[in-house]
Amino acid sequence: MLLTPWPRGAGMQRGGGRQSLGRAPPAPLVCLGVGRRVSCPPAGRGSAGDAPPPSTQVPSEPSAGPPERWSHLCTGKAHPCPAPSERHPLPFRPALMSRPQVQRALLALTIPLETLQAVKGRMLQAMYKGLSRQTHAQANVRMLPTYICSTPDGTEKGDILVVELCQSHVRTLWVTLLGDGNQSPQVTYKIFDMPEDIIQGKGEALFDFIAQCLRQFLAGISSPQHRLPLGFVFPFSCRQMQLDKAELISWSKGFSCSDVEGKDVVQLLQSAINKQELHHVDVVALMNDTVGTMMTCSMRGEPCEVALIVGTGTNSCFMAEAQQVEMAEEISGKMCVNTEWGCFGDDGTLSDILTPYDQHVDQESSNPGEKRFEKLVGSLYLGEIVRHVLTALVAEKVLFTGSSVAILRTKDVLKTQQVLEIIDNEEGMAKARRVLEALGLQPSEQDCCRVQQICRAVVSRAAALCAAGLAAILSHMCQSRELERLVVNVGVDGELYRGYTRFGEILQSVTGLLAPECMATLLPSVDGTGQGAAVVTAVALRLAAQRREVDQLLAPLRLSRADLERVQALMRQEMELGLGLESHANASVRMLPTYVRGTPDGTERGEFLALDLGGTNFRVLVVRVAQDGIRMASEIYVIPTAVMQGTGEALFNHIIECIMDFQLKQDLMEQVLPLGFTFSFPCQQLGLDKAVLLSWTKGFSASGCVGQDVVQLLREAAQRKQHLGLKVVAVVNDTVGTMMSCGYDDPKCEIGLIVGTGTNACYMEEMQNVGTVEGEQGRMCINMEWGAFGDNGCLDDIFTDFDRLVDEKTINAGKQRFEKLISGMYLGEIVRHILLALVEKQLLFCGKPCPKLQTRDIFQTKFLSTIEIDGLALRQAQAILQDLELQASSEDSLLVQKVCQTVSLRAAQLCAAGLAAVVEKMRENRGLAQLAVTVGVDGTLYKMHPRFSQHLQQMLRDLAPNCTVTFLQSEDGSGKGAALVAAVACRRAEP
Ligand code: ADP
Repeated sequence: MLLTPWPRGAGMQRGGGRQSLGRAPPAPLVCLGVGRRVSCPPAGRGSAGDAPPPSTQVPSEPSAGPPERWSHLCTGKAHPCPAPSERHPLPFRPALMSRPQVQRALLALTIPLETLQAVKGRMLQAMYKGLSRQTHAQANVRMLPTYICSTPDGTEKGDILVVELCQSHVRTLWVTLLGDGNQSPQVTYKIFDMPEDIIQGKGEALFDFIAQCLRQFLAGISSPQHRLPLGFVFPFSCRQMQLDKAELISWSKGFSCSDVEGKDVVQLLQSAINKQELHHVDVVALMNDTVGTMMTCSMRGEPCEVALIVGTGTNSCFMAEAQQVEMAEEISGKMCVNTEWGCFGDDGTLSDILTPYDQHVDQESSNPGEKRFEKLVGSLYLGEIVRHVLTALVAEKVLFTGSSVAILRTKDVLKTQQVLEIIDNEEGMAKARRVLEALGLQPSEQDCCRVQQICRAVVSRAAALCAAGLAAILSHMCQSRELERLVVNVGVDGELYRGYTRFGEILQSVTGLLAPECMATLLPSVDGTGQGAAVVTAVALRLAAQRREVDQLLAPLRLSRADLERVQALMRQEMELGLGLESHANASVRMLPTYVRGTPDGTERGEFLALDLGGTNFRVLVVRVAQDGIRMASEIYVIPTAVMQGTGEALFNHIIECIMDFQLKQDLMEQVLPLGFTFSFPCQQLGLDKAVLLSWTKGFSASGCVGQDVVQLLREAAQRKQHLGLKVVAVVNDTVGTMMSCGYDDPKCEIGLIVGTGTNACYMEEMQNVGTVEGEQGRMCINMEWGAFGDNGCLDDIFTDFDRLVDEKTINAGKQRFEKLISGMYLGEIVRHILLALVEKQLLFCGKPCPKLQTRDIFQTKFLSTIEIDGLALRQAQAILQDLELQASSEDSLLVQKVCQTVSLRAAQLCAAGLAAVVEKMRENRGLAQLAVTVGVDGTLYKMHPRFSQHLQQMLRDLAPNCTVTFLQSEDGSGKGAALVAAVACRRAEP
């Protein structure tokens, strides 16, 4: 059967500017801030029930209920409500009823504040249950991920189609977003009534019907044939896997089409659309009505991060911290969660607040025991609750005496719309009479007044429960964002909220009482869900396009396994060149002999001085090596940049001054202790205590040093300063020091690695392979100076434009190319250049210029560590960026995080490729099928970065599967290590 949809009335409209979409304007919102005096709304004509009738004995203050009881009976000019206070937070007035039965009924429908607080607590628990992967399956509040990870930023632009599946009709919209802050989208829409049989027929027929509506709609507006993205508003519980992939969990609201549950509804709609030959229409996003409301409200400038629907049913959604949404894979940023809170209480958690009236409503519903929260709040049920209260009071002969009341036994005889009319302040009493008389009842004035009170009680209870739920969401958001105070906008829609001003007032004030740490502003949704859906679709498109551009920009920084294998092979090749006597001069990896021939054996003893020069700071140490271990004392001295880059004489004078200061402080002036000098710059070592500086690195450039023996320079400075007690026995590199200090704890440690300001590695090579030193026996530690790997151009194809920009601005351009991809001195700079490129391409910070980001070195490598930590990293990223005068949205922060991850991952992987070459060579040297070796590591980047070591080790396992490599972090390697080299040398020199 082909179902032809027919348009409803004159639903078709088109025009510039905002259109009225056929909804009543939102009720004006009255905000009742906590602690503010609240006056009751004026009582309407004939509001006799609000003031005590002459015969009624008005109980003096709260005798009719506990003082904390929160009352909805606040009406009547004569009785302005007292100002809320801590204990009496909301106006309470005892029930002004003559009959205790009526009072009892009203009290049963009144929930004390402390109970509301408990309901909020239970809602929070239910939410956690829904969020957790372990308990999700049993949760009533499902907390479904929506894969909507951002709210609109106003730049969304273009034509979007929306299809909204509603209770009894399908609405199709054509929304043109202008990219001007979303102030004025142009909307054309059409409503198609849905034949009754469709909602309970075959699933295929439902989707065919929707697609036919769409075809008819598009034909009517002679739409262009270019690709049209479509957002689908589907207000049912779905298990969403992506924005455009969602399986229906179960139908509700009277729908029961076959063959849809468990299926991907996006796919079903897309197939139906294709059947209509609308091949240019792509369903790109699916969302429910709550999400649509949130997005619609977000279009007015301020982001809206929570939405509530209080209509036929009730539901809510909010932007949760993505890492808490365990059912989705996202770990950073935010994700909108559809709470599906209508089922809250299905496990009995609300039994203490359920009245006998609620039980009757539930039993008579089509789904007894289910949707218990919705049945207390949703407008589908409020008329029924009132009917049951009236029935009970009639049975007690308190109402409608003398009337025939049989009509009240008929289900749904009282509509929620009528309830809302009855509680109206102005017309309510007259409406009550009209409604009751229409039912064949003969109400007295007092009957009308009591019915009005009951209606108010039922609706107010719904608002208070809604507030408890909202308070739970707000407190959860505040807690999970670790805020002291949450300021947030809440979009609200639904006939109850729109139809009764007081609903919003109660919602606002009770929420304020239950979540005082949160400041929520309720925003009535003016345009329903359609525009919001268009925006979600547009955001999805914008993000997808951005993602593609970002991926393109970052692609050169992503190394494939093949790239890394090539780097490993090149490193191996350069190592061989560096070791060979003939080829040594042309190798970019210098493979310098250190004259260190053994690692510690544990018999070393004595007291040693150690110097550590080569990084950010200069240190002097005294190291005591005894049977019970090593003890050290040290002092850090700053080397001013002017000294680093001045004359060699000044630099070495400064060093001697620091040593003398240290010896004075340590009372060591009178002793001549053997000294080990950690000098972490490339040196041609000619003996253990003779090292010719080949070049400066890491920002040093003191003149007159390159080509000189640094031990000699030190001795000369000592003479100039008349410091005669200096006995330098060994000069070592920090990498060697690190290996030696770890070797003291682990004899398998035969490799040293540094990833700090710079990067370097050393390892124990067979003497027979070291062509540059005489002798074939035993091993010698080789200082690879691998930072210079690639200086001969062999890595040129993996350098990106960003690396080139960083290199150009260094004092040693074209040198230390491998180091400039890996170490702490450069990673921040690489990131900074990428961020600048992203800004230029309008992919970051809305393309706004960032003057501070132009400053060299302003983006420090330690920021990468902070930004890449899981959990609260995004907030930290935002704080860091704020310090750089950058206003980052969460999307911006996510992008900055992605850039940092890309840069640090590449650094770790390149380091792994280098190490893979080393361990594989050692394994082959020793003719082993499997090598077990330990790497002693030092350097703040390695130690502090949250993922560097993990990525390095993982990649190394992959590239060198026949080596079992353990990593041992060195504790003060260059200090302790230098002393140990001196100690080993002294031990060997002993007769
Ligand atoms: P050096 O190598 O100079 O002896 P470090 O090993 O302490 O000194 O390394 C210093 C480098 O580490 C600096 O260049 C800095 O960029 C980087 N760094 C400092 N803190 C961190 C951090 N938290 N995470 C990553 N890198 C850091």
